[in-house]
Amino acid sequence: MAKEGKKKLIVGNWKMNLTVPEATILAERLKKEIVFVDGVETVVAPSFVSLYSVSETLADSAISVGAQDVFYEENGSYTGEVSAAMLRGLAKYCIVGHSERRIYFGESDRDVSQKVKALLTYDIKPIICIGETLREHSDGLSKVVAVSEAEAALRFVTKEDLENITFAYEPVWAIGSGKACHPDDAENVIQAVQKFIKALFGDKAADKIRILYGGSVNAENAKGFMKKNIDGFLVGGASLDHEEFTEIVKTTLKSS
Ligand code: PEP
Repeated sequence: MAKEGKKKLIVGNWKMNLTVPEATILAERLKKEIVFVDGVETVVAPSFVSLYSVSETLADSAISVGAQDVFYEENGSYTGEVSAAMLRGLAKYCIVGHSERRIYFGESDRDVSQKVKALLTYDIKPIICIGETLREHSDGLSKVVAVSEAEAALRFVTKEDLENITFAYEPVWAIGSGKACHPDDAENVIQAVQKFIKALFGDKAADKIRILYGGSVNAENAKGFMKKNIDGFLVGGASLDHEEFTEIVKTTLKSS
């Protein structure tokens, strides 16, 4: 897989929103506002049905395209599923292990590790979501949960793969709630994950991995996170508003 430097990464997860024409219009708007810059890469992740149109719209633009999920088998009788082979050429990135998939669709740590493996085989960069529920947070388990999900996701990952791996620390209670995690707390959990990856692969290799924060990020609170050792954002709700999303990208750029 091609090597790239460690830029900050801003990912818009459009979830199950927008028809194909609506997704295409949003991509066109973002394309006009977000230009090539050195320190930041922007990604949007539309639904599967909009992937083709959005990737055509954003061809030769500063914005990369991601998928929201993948199935780990290559092809076959898996009605409704989409494989990494099918995503190749359409998506540079793919989100895996989002808490909504873990909670509503029973996605396990094992599934996540298999999906990561399949994506790497097809040169697609995984964005792996990790993070604790409210209950686990109240029980003081934020670091334990994030590290254990990270460990499981890295099961088939080699040292050489690390520069193509991104984690997104997304406390489940912060997603869509309007209550973002405190930047100090996010940094603490992220540092614990970094420490674990260093123990596993060594300092130099582990420095290549990016760890984003996600959970109720907006243009205003992004500034606080950017003062911390955080490599970017996974943005849900605010990524559907082109002005707000562009502002988050600009804020990140100013601090990069
Ligand atoms: C997400 O779903 O990944 C997310 C971070 O959502 P929101 O920004 O809406 O909290």
